[in-house]
Amino acid sequence: MQRLPSGAVARCRTAPYPPTMPRYVKFTLMGKHRWGLVVDGGVLEMTSSPYDGGSPEVQGEVLPWDLLRLDPPAEPTKVVAIGRNYADHAAELGNDVPAEPLLFIKPPSCVIGHEADVVYPTGQSELVHHEGELAIVIGRRARFVDEADADDYILGYTVMNDVTARDLQRKDVQFTRAKSFDTFGPLGPWVDTDFAPADQRIRVTVNGETRQESTLDRMVFKPRFLLAYISRVMTLEPGDVITTGTPSGVGPLLPGDEVEVTIAGLGALKNRVVAG
Ligand code: MG
Repeated sequence: MQRLPSGAVARCRTAPYPPTMPRYVKFTLMGKHRWGLVVDGGVLEMTSSPYDGGSPEVQGEVLPWDLLRLDPPAEPTKVVAIGRNYADHAAELGNDVPAEPLLFIKPPSCVIGHEADVVYPTGQSELVHHEGELAIVIGRRARFVDEADADDYILGYTVMNDVTARDLQRKDVQFTRAKSFDTFGPLGPWVDTDFAPADQRIRVTVNGETRQESTLDRMVFKPRFLLAYISRVMTLEPGDVITTGTPSGVGPLLPGDEVEVTIAGLGALKNRVVAG
């Protein structure tokens, strides 16, 4: 059963639109995928997705968390990921901080939601790492965007675990195989449209033990710069995701582990690892 994602808070019961509670979730209820607005005690279903300047209405009764399975709170055509964006993480793997953002792609097929299982690719990798990251969810089509205008294209922020088969990343040089196994992209629990990245703490725990801990201001290239930079390369579509890189402390995950990525003021994303 779905438990209340940690960090959930409640401010309103009637949820007028525009929402006073600026967090969107995507969820499955009775086999149907829906969008919802986080309110006191649960979620109000919305009539459409929050992308692209839409103004969805809310409908029905408050749905309690334990009825819902959370989907990833985005529908990406691609996840654009940034490598080596914290100096301490670059150093721990023996790399320099790049002079420009290092971009790679994770496919939409790897993306899973809060409390979905990460499937360990048994027989293909012997070293799977967690990478806790801040992720941007795109709200409007973005191409050749100026950094000063980047906020106009951001729906909000969420939490990502850029799960990585480190042995395959080293072996292949190219990142594609290491980053792309199905379930290697936990994302959630929600999109927060009010979150402003500054010096908030980011922490990854495995079975309750802290593995990664840093603050978002230690990123080399900041979120607005990254959006503008990427938009000069490719069109970003509503629902696309940019994941902004991980701090030091990456380490192994094994079947049976429970991994949680928490960003203060934003939310906590929890997933279990199961044998493939
Ligand atoms: Mg990463």
